[in-house]
Amino acid sequence: MRFSQSFIRTSKEEPADAEIISHKLLMRAGLVRKLASGIYIIMPLANLVIKKIENIIRSEMNAACAQEVIMPCILPANLWKETGRWEVYGSEMLKIKDRAEREYCFGPTHEEVITDLVRHEVRSYKQLPVTLYQIQTKFRDEIRPRFGLMRAREFTMKDAYSFDISAEGLDINYKKMHAAYCNIFKRCGVKYTVVDADTGAIGGSSSHEFMVIAPSGEDAIVYCDSCRYSANVEKASTQIDKILGPEIPAGSSAAAPRSKIEKIHTPNASTIDDLAKFLKVDKKSLCKILFFTNGRAENDGREDVVALISGAFELNEIKLKNHLKFINLEMIPSEEVQKRVGAYPGFGGPIGINPNVKIIADNSVKHLSDFVVGANEKDYHLKNVNLSDFSVTSFADLVMVDAGHPCPQCGAKLEKARGIEVGHIFKLGTKYSEALGAKYIDEAGQENPIIMGCYGIGVGRTMQAAVEQNNDQDGICWPMPIAPFHVILVLLNSSDETQKQCAEDLYKKMLAENIEVLFDDRAEKPGFKFKDADLLGIPIRVAVGRYAAEGKVEFKRRNSKDLKVVGVDEVVSLVKSEISREINGL
Ligand SMILES: [Zn+2]
Repeated sequence: MRFSQSFIRTSKEEPADAEIISHKLLMRAGLVRKLASGIYIIMPLANLVIKKIENIIRSEMNAACAQEVIMPCILPANLWKETGRWEVYGSEMLKIKDRAEREYCFGPTHEEVITDLVRHEVRSYKQLPVTLYQIQTKFRDEIRPRFGLMRAREFTMKDAYSFDISAEGLDINYKKMHAAYCNIFKRCGVKYTVVDADTGAIGGSSSHEFMVIAPSGEDAIVYCDSCRYSANVEKASTQIDKILGPEIPAGSSAAAPRSKIEKIHTPNASTIDDLAKFLKVDKKSLCKILFFTNGRAENDGREDVVALISGAFELNEIKLKNHLKFINLEMIPSEEVQKRVGAYPGFGGPIGINPNVKIIADNSVKHLSDFVVGANEKDYHLKNVNLSDFSVTSFADLVMVDAGHPCPQCGAKLEKARGIEVGHIFKLGTKYSEALGAKYIDEAGQENPIIMGCYGIGVGRTMQAAVEQNNDQDGICWPMPIAPFHVILVLLNSSDETQKQCAEDLYKKMLAENIEVLFDDRAEKPGFKFKDADLLGIPIRVAVGRYAAEGKVEFKRRNSKDLKVVGVDEVVSLVKSEISREINGL
């Protein structure tokens, strides 16, 4: 394409409402334009990227024996009423009426529609398994749309649904989709990780999230480069004995008090750091106490709990909340701790507190002996305390796993990063098939509900996540496989006939070789064109300038400072080999 005839609109202006770098770059490089809150126009360059991502998705879905369908985006209310989600979905669902006052919604997801299709088409086990997918526009009326396509209201999604006769069949399909998703993100050229997103509330079902690693990601994750372990921090665990030494078995001699509990004067040492400094001991031999509540009124099911954890760790409140099955978890205001718990904030400990308050201890406390806790009295602590000195309601993993902690699988040091969720796969089971009566008849003539899985990828989100991960101070650095063009051919001086002829010839040659090339033939200054080339992030730049008279051009990769002067005859094959190495050799 010739830049001079294109609808590429770049800008130097920082967009006012863009909070993250990828959103700013999408606006500045003219990839998207906002029409309304959370609703965007996909401009020509972004459309090229999106089509490439969609084609990678299609080829991997088809290879996994999934078949493409297109479901409508306007969906009748009755299906949603059958599963109860017409009410449950809440205000994220955009509801509409036709001229006859019939109710519809703009599809936020398609489980109901696909299950309805399959219940009408499938009768026998012989017709299963089957996996169907679509790449479709969806609408979710987000309360706070932001970050451009990252959290838009209207968005493009690939959603696939598998239908099986058994849990084993679902396992096979799930693994196929897992592998296909790995291929998709690898082929898109983004650095990604897969995290176990299994949620306790859903029971035995599996669920995995595919994350593009990027500093502004909404999810904190830890991962291990040695063994590929990866988890959300809410799910992550570590090897406590590698930090605190072995667990002390209850009832053993080591668990029995060896020395008497002693009350020690610890003036002003109300934090773990101050206390460790004052006692000249390592933080890990101290036991921290924190005070939480479910936040309800005293006469309306209020539950106050204390949580204990070794001073070596921070407490992960989400883990505690899940362990307690609380809908809400908050700290007890420190001025109320004494009255409600019977502990003294800053000098609190589990001994002698209100017996109605549950004591939840992190597993790390099992690794402590003769430890220090607060004495529940200002400026005093107790030392030589052991687990036998108070009763713990339950133990749980409450550790906030951090960079440097040992990997739970192999012991190597964990890394911490932030991720953007771009894909999610999920074993649905029979939730929708039972609600909608999607059944098959088995070999014995019995009717059974069909077993389902669902598999989503945010397409626009993947594009923006790629930008969030691949950029520098000058603009985007597209991974080759999804770049809108592979090469930007820059004519530096359009009034120089030699340069012009050389560039025109090169452009024709590249087109003849099926190279995806954007030809910047505009009558602009070289610096201006180079800035645009960097902002647009085209992976290879070929510049035709003063060396044209010697039959040479400049070759530069977007993500490198190196500039090579190469012969006009060589440059096309050089470009071709770089492109194919990065697309096929990934
Ligand atoms: Zn590991």
